[in-house]
Amino acid sequence: MEAHKYEGQHTLIEKVINKGLCVRCGACVGLCPYFDYFDGTVIVMDKCSADTWRCLQVCPVADFEGTRPDRGTTGIENSGGIGRFKKVIIARAADEDMRRQSQYGGVASCLLIYSLNKGFIKSAVLTDKGGKFSPGGMIAKGPSDIFDCGQSRYSASGTLSALNRAIKEGQDRIGVVGLPCQMDALERMRLSEPDGKERSRRIAFKIGLFCTWAIDYRALHAFLIEKSINTPAKKFDIPPPPSEKFCVQTEKGWVDFPLDSVRPFIQKGCTICRDMTAENADISIGTLEGREGWNTVIIRTSVGEDIINSAESEGWLDVDSLADENFSHLMEASLNKRKRALNNYAE
Ligand SMILES: Cc1cc2nc3c(=O)[nH]c(=O)nc-3n(C[C@H](O)[C@H](O)[C@H](O)COP(=O)(O)OP(=O)(O)OC[C@H]3O[C@@H](n4cnc5c(N)ncnc54)[C@H](O)[C@@H]3O)c2cc1C
Repeated sequence: MEAHKYEGQHTLIEKVINKGLCVRCGACVGLCPYFDYFDGTVIVMDKCSADTWRCLQVCPVADFEGTRPDRGTTGIENSGGIGRFKKVIIARAADEDMRRQSQYGGVASCLLIYSLNKGFIKSAVLTDKGGKFSPGGMIAKGPSDIFDCGQSRYSASGTLSALNRAIKEGQDRIGVVGLPCQMDALERMRLSEPDGKERSRRIAFKIGLFCTWAIDYRALHAFLIEKSINTPAKKFDIPPPPSEKFCVQTEKGWVDFPLDSVRPFIQKGCTICRDMTAENADISIGTLEGREGWNTVIIRTSVGEDIINSAESEGWLDVDSLADENFSHLMEASLNKRKRALNNYAE
């Protein structure tokens, strides 16, 4: 394809942003100075004249022909239910206080704090809790930053803009936690020209979160205000099926809504995402059905395996085996997401 100067950014705007398909992963924000992230939305500041097409190359939604380099063998279409893995286990942070400050078993926060302590990472790109505006990407440099970013915000939050910032600042040995789309964007970044490999080398490891979908922040915010709930809420939860609930913790306690009441706010781009378990991560983490306070953990790479093994052997992590029934559910849920996405994509 002949690259016209303005065509990369123009294509991204036309085929992703203007079609409402942007999933707000943040990968283009700060990579190209003309993209910014504000209050749950990616904003185009100006026309970009670079002919590198970097924004398009890293976009996890840009799957149309001729817009990105060959992704080699990483295409998730061929990877079965949950992608490639070495082992699936269940785990939780051994420290009770750490679990209390986390979403479920606190494995994500525990591995980050452990890795900082050991010097495996110098910082971590995480998602903050937001305040006056939406949650966004944060460069965490110590345990208290990691705790501040603990738990789940169910809106996509431009997290990878913080990675672009960290790389620009010259940082290396960075841990990244993100959604499947964000892990996909990182894989695309690794394969991107002209400097994807160099940028990628700054990342020590990637922790992916399971994700069925994420909600548009502004729509969720308006919904909560209408229900007289001040944001940011103390905590959110979507308990595993069959609960069908969206739960919000306020100063006065938990308020439950039918999951259907927030489904209209699911980002359009999430409906064509085929990846539930963050297949491009080193370690993927989700909830565990039927055993409160534990996480399901997919160990995918040697990097992921080494961290889990050493965190366990040094007493930071409690580990147990995953029941066959849970494994079947995980496969089923993951395949169902893939089928739904392929149907939606075809429509
Ligand atoms: C949008 C979304 C959808 C999810 N859907 C599912 C699902 O369908 N099934 C399932 O099993 N699990 C799902 N999860 C994952 C689950 O909620 C927990 O994040 C995961 O189990 C890790 O738990 P933990 O106790 O180890 O987390 P913690 O130790 O508390 O760490 C949580 C980490 O999540 C990061 N984070 C928080 N919000 C976001 C965000 N919006 N974007 C990117 N990173 C974020 C924080 O930076 C923090 O590092 C979802 C999470 C999110 C954010």
